[in-house]
Amino acid sequence: METGGTLELKKVRLISPLKGQASLFDEVVDIYVENGEIKEIERTSGNPRAIALPGFIDLHVHFPQLDIMGLKSDTLLYWLRELVFKHEAKLSDEKFAEDLAKRFLKALIENGTTTAMVFSSIHQRATDILFREASKSQLILFIGKTMMDANSPSYLSETTSNSIKESVELLERWNGFQGKLFYAFTPRFALSCTEELMRETGRLARSYNVFIQSHVSENRDEVREVKRIFKRDYIQLLDEVGLLWEKTVLAHGIHLNEGEAQLLAERKVSIAHCPDSNFFLRSGRFPYSLMREAGVRFGLGSDVGAGTSLYMPYHAKVMIYTQVPEGGGGAEISLEEAFRKFTLDSAEILGLDHLVGSVELGKRGDLVLYFPDKLGRGSTRDILSRLIFRAPEIKPDMVIVNGVPLFQTSQAPEALKRIN
Ligand SMILES: [Zn+2]
Repeated sequence: METGGTLELKKVRLISPLKGQASLFDEVVDIYVENGEIKEIERTSGNPRAIALPGFIDLHVHFPQLDIMGLKSDTLLYWLRELVFKHEAKLSDEKFAEDLAKRFLKALIENGTTTAMVFSSIHQRATDILFREASKSQLILFIGKTMMDANSPSYLSETTSNSIKESVELLERWNGFQGKLFYAFTPRFALSCTEELMRETGRLARSYNVFIQSHVSENRDEVREVKRIFKRDYIQLLDEVGLLWEKTVLAHGIHLNEGEAQLLAERKVSIAHCPDSNFFLRSGRFPYSLMREAGVRFGLGSDVGAGTSLYMPYHAKVMIYTQVPEGGGGAEISLEEAFRKFTLDSAEILGLDHLVGSVELGKRGDLVLYFPDKLGRGSTRDILSRLIFRAPEIKPDMVIVNGVPLFQTSQAPEALKRIN
């Protein structure tokens, strides 16, 4: 088992959700991390040197799309065809894949993301390279090569048997690596898969006990196409082929009715809600109240490259904004709830709430630090409010992953630089 870092953070104001509790922790403390594990959190007093938050979690992000982030196109199916697929094809070049993997992992860390669920491209080699680079990073990542054996451009297609074979090879090589890297079967979406591939994926995910990540009901044209090809509604199809179980994370889930939301809740499926992407591609508005009332678990995803930032507090802001309907009002989302959507809620979805998502004894030393002059002083609400609503202008000053400081701004004060 690879060891993490050892360090002591003196006099930081720690704001964190707590496992099993509704209220947030907010105290000035000294934190001691040994071999990556939080060993002590001691209350102290005085003016804090920094504000410390748990490492952020991105439930849905596409590694191959880093460079097309922010490139306006059109709605989903056109965007995929005209921009995304052509770009993802570049990952057949191993040198390019390696360079991109390094930039992608660095960008996650600089944005305070210490755990993520990641789509790679269709390429086994590029996915292997991403795993290899990730193994040097301390990050916790769930990664899968996209599976595409139908309705895809010839340069981005595979046979059903190769799709399965290459996925299983990657899984056997990397799943569970150092307790930080995990394989996730990644059927891109129903439109890029045969029924046979989806059935086999559902079966294998259960037999290996690993996650499935995919997309669902993002765009009305996509929903119509699924119905035309498979003669069934989207959720019904995914259920019948066995893709819905407790280790499934589906991005989007916008165009759903009450019955479908209830089925997702029954199957314990989770949703990666990606509000920035949903408005960027004019896909629609996430049925927040419906999902919450049905008891569907969901966390936030950046969905880069249809998302325009890797910074998770920004996505919390967009989540709150996009729930305002035309006439005003809309779902009331508290700051605490929004904060949990990219920390502890997502850790629970990934089955890792014993390790990440909050700063508590025995958990990993994943911490995002800000200088007090940036997030200011005041109540817990004041700090969270600035964190979310002033994003992405205010960014982290230091990011510690598994007890190792992997990023700090040049303005990091001497006090923080001297941690050992
Ligand atoms: Zn996506």
